[in-house]
Amino acid sequence: MKFAQEFRKSLQQEGFPQRWVSSAVPYGQLKKCLKKVTNELQELGLDKDTLAQLANTQKDPSTVAFHYHLDGKTTDSKYFRPRLTFFIHLKDGVAVDAKLTPSTRDFLKKIVPRTEGVSDPMVDEPGHETLSPTSPNPQRPPLSEEYLSSIQQIEVPLVFDGEFFDILQTDVSNLDVLQEEEQDKLGKEIALLGQEINIATKPSKGRKVRGDLETWRKIFELYLDARVFFSTLESDHGARTSSQAVEQLRWFQDQVLSRKLVHGLKLNNSRQAYTRFLNTNALLLQILKFQEINNLAVTKILKKFDKRTSLGVSRVFPVTVRSNHLLAGSVAKDLCAQMSTELISVVPQLDDYLCPICFAVAYWPVRLECQHVFCSRCLVKMSRKGERFCPLCRADVIMRAGLENFDSARAAFLREYFPKEVKEKIRANERERNREIFGPDYSDSPCSVM
Ligand SMILES: [Zn+2]
Ligand SMILES: [Zn+2]
Repeated sequence: MKFAQEFRKSLQQEGFPQRWVSSAVPYGQLKKCLKKVTNELQELGLDKDTLAQLANTQKDPSTVAFHYHLDGKTTDSKYFRPRLTFFIHLKDGVAVDAKLTPSTRDFLKKIVPRTEGVSDPMVDEPGHETLSPTSPNPQRPPLSEEYLSSIQQIEVPLVFDGEFFDILQTDVSNLDVLQEEEQDKLGKEIALLGQEINIATKPSKGRKVRGDLETWRKIFELYLDARVFFSTLESDHGARTSSQAVEQLRWFQDQVLSRKLVHGLKLNNSRQAYTRFLNTNALLLQILKFQEINNLAVTKILKKFDKRTSLGVSRVFPVTVRSNHLLAGSVAKDLCAQMSTELISVVPQLDDYLCPICFAVAYWPVRLECQHVFCSRCLVKMSRKGERFCPLCRADVIMRAGLENFDSARAAFLREYFPKEVKEKIRANERERNREIFGPDYSDSPCSVM
């Protein structure tokens, strides 16, 4: 299937909101405009083969060169002002270069007479930001004065390429705005959802029904493992494509189902929040998919532009265009960041509260002067061995630690959010201490009376 058809079909069938569809890349319009560009070039004798031939000769510094400059960023104007400039080596008004094909010679013959006379608008005007004849190709070696004086710099007046790039830039900007609006809206929804989950998971002593803290923690653990929109793993680091994200999301939902976690949610609000959480992910996925096909449309139309003109824009345009999201390729990453900072962080994860030495919950928590937190047990053992330096930052702080370093706020927080882990850790600490006192055979199982 042709891309134009494919693009139209996915715009219609993916269930995108109408407002999105109307800001999609106007692929058909761009294609029509591209036709005008190629006609314009052809009228000047610049068909794609001639241009390709000229582009080829650029590699040889002593031959004719042209430069196609997309002047997007350098001007304040929001309009593109592309410029096609030729550097022609002339002798008695005739282009001399044995390597030129007859068609290229024809073209040059056509435009050369038009450059004679200073009043000709196509010849360099003062005030134009133009390249000096020595700089069209940075690799070009210094040339003799005689040679330079025979080089003419001619700007080819084109209209429709400007129109083409204006349409494209306008649309890319619109898509960026749409992305920002959707992210904003989602941000609000995510914040609300966060509040709800916060209420459902907040430990409360007076509450008869225990909250859903444990279950939500398991759900979010699985969600983090799924790395739906962005992977932080070394093996597949980076943004996911929408089809990968679908797979990851499916895996997550299957896991939640098979572990009967939704069943385990006791509060009504929790179950509703889970449904909303899934819907939010579905919407994120839609945004990703939409931006993805539009990004593809931009790539395709630029490739087509190059295929028809040999002007090499698919390399230049993405650099020149102003885009914070679509062409910056940050859509998936932005979505992922939003999800994890505003929602997942509502439910504290054990990983963030482990003692870096024993990898159990850091209880009792001792905060050293360098602000690193360890469990008191590990620090006691270190100071006994005479170790003075923090294992994380090598600051000389361990011997200076005392009772005042006990972090009581952190301790209360850990008891609230990780009651099970804290109990286990206290028991393990006691066991270890008793072994130190009573010897390695000590067992804390209740002693049996004979
Ligand atoms: Zn420890
Ligand atoms: Zn430290």
